[in-house]
Amino acid sequence: MERDRILVVVQKKGIGPGRPASIALENLKAASLLSRQGSGERVCACVLGSGVGEFAMDIAFYAEEVYVVDHPLLGHFQADLYACALEAVCRAVNPCTVLMGHRYENSEVGPKLSCKMGRDLITDCVKIEREKETGALLCTKPIYGGNATAVFALHDRPQMVTIRAKATDALEKGTAKGVIKTLDCALDPSMGLTESLGLVAGEDAVDLNQAEVIVAGGRGVKTEDDFETLKGLVAAFRRRFDKVELGASRAVVDAGLLPHSRQIGQTGEKVAPQLYIAIAISGSAQHMAGVTGAKKILTINKDADAAIFGASDYGVVGKYEDIVPAFIRKLEELS
Ligand code: FAD
Repeated sequence: MERDRILVVVQKKGIGPGRPASIALENLKAASLLSRQGSGERVCACVLGSGVGEFAMDIAFYAEEVYVVDHPLLGHFQADLYACALEAVCRAVNPCTVLMGHRYENSEVGPKLSCKMGRDLITDCVKIEREKETGALLCTKPIYGGNATAVFALHDRPQMVTIRAKATDALEKGTAKGVIKTLDCALDPSMGLTESLGLVAGEDAVDLNQAEVIVAGGRGVKTEDDFETLKGLVAAFRRRFDKVELGASRAVVDAGLLPHSRQIGQTGEKVAPQLYIAIAISGSAQHMAGVTGAKKILTINKDADAAIFGASDYGVVGKYEDIVPAFIRKLEELS
């Protein structure tokens, strides 16, 4: 009997010929773990784009089969066209399970695909497992702003999920030597609702969900100059860690001090660093929804009763203006 297939939708990192996005490699790892738990399904990848031949060859080092739709209309991300191409791949490949990264493109494409396929989609999962007896996909996701966890069972194929960054580690290159299969797909140009003239890298390119250490500031950090103190702490950590980023609560972003790409929480990024340093952040449910994946939380707040202390592993009560410079001096002594 032919082996079933798990299909992982793979996207590129950033602009240009590109490397696979970290979240795609994590989902390929999630697929291979799922295959081991299940009946040894093939781990397959799906690559959509224009001129993506070389990229697909790279992905073949991670998956047994790489399904490619290479079409000029897929050159820039357009949700309707991508959903249409993905539907064509799903109908041709008939996978039991489709894994997508929980990132902004799939927040649009996922529901459209779910509607086209007439199947449920579970978004923002932090864990997926195969139930041996029934073959159901058990999808764990935080609910109520991260205050509770729910498990949803998907029975009907294709079982479709989006998975949060860092739910697993990344798959090593060379795990497979896959076959590339090119699929044709009739795409209607009228489905493209926007015309992209080109893509430019943002001035503030940031990958918060891959950061190992995040120094996040809240409303208590009032001005751009005040943020220089926090940037000093970021710089001190960067001497010891590779991926250190500055983050913020929504209050800071709403005040125009940092761009939305740095917002953490329910309507911002969901992060999973080794260390999350929350500075002058009170710990609203909406903010904490973004940090449930953090391994350790260190809080600096002048209010000893701030709710965030209840969710912190370490806490310092005091004004950050006094504490952060002392931290920086200590880190410099240690390095
Ligand atoms: P505050 O709650 O005002 O807290 C400031 C803290 O700084 C206080 O605890 C104070 O003691 C401390 N402080 C002040 N000065 C100092 C000092 N000098 N030194 C040390 N400590 C000091 N919020 C998010 O963050 N992310 C989201 O994604 C998000 N999404 C939302 C979605 C919806 C639908 C809604 C309604 C709200 C959302 N919010 C979100 C907003 C959220 O409810 C809070 O308003 C916000 O998180 C508060 O930010 P804060 O903790 O920085 O500010």
